[in-house]
Amino acid sequence: MLAGHFGVAGIVKAWRPDIPLAALLVATQLPDLVFAPLALAGWESMEPAAPGLEGYGSLLITAEFSHSLLFNVVLALAVGWSVHVFLRDRWGRDAGAVVGAVVFSHWLLDLLVHRPDLPLLPGNVGDLPLWGLGLWEAPALTAVVEGALVLTGTGLYAWRTLRDEPRRVRAWCRSAAMALLLVGAFVFDLLA
Ligand SMILES: [Zn+2]
Repeated sequence: MLAGHFGVAGIVKAWRPDIPLAALLVATQLPDLVFAPLALAGWESMEPAAPGLEGYGSLLITAEFSHSLLFNVVLALAVGWSVHVFLRDRWGRDAGAVVGAVVFSHWLLDLLVHRPDLPLLPGNVGDLPLWGLGLWEAPALTAVVEGALVLTGTGLYAWRTLRDEPRRVRAWCRSAAMALLLVGAFVFDLLA
């Protein structure tokens, strides 16, 4: 679910235009950006949820550090606190809370779609039950949910940009670039 997370960034950008879009895009993907090097190092991984299963929503993700609830709470608090301390003058008084919530939204969306593979504690200490509501078991329904996030993110971003940006060409270019990113990410999700 690359595109769904980006959709959240588009929605928040429309609501809080003072926060840079790039920061929101990175914030929504932060746990996956931690996952990538850990997967390259062989410490975390993803594989088909069942032998022969492939396509959209077919993965079981073993990410006991990057996708544990505790790590994601700490990550959201740390990013939110850093934004609050260093950037609130530029991004707004409550920008820390907003960006922290955007970071945590990744885990919540993953909780919705993942099969039960999300641990509460890093390393799944204590062997507690793994979490995941498993929407990926129904790929068509997941596509509807993710498509709705993409459409809402694209639409709200374009609405706000076209309303606030006086340079028309720039406003249309930005809106088109955002639509391309979100729809492109959605196509990638569907085909990957
Ligand atoms: Zn993730």
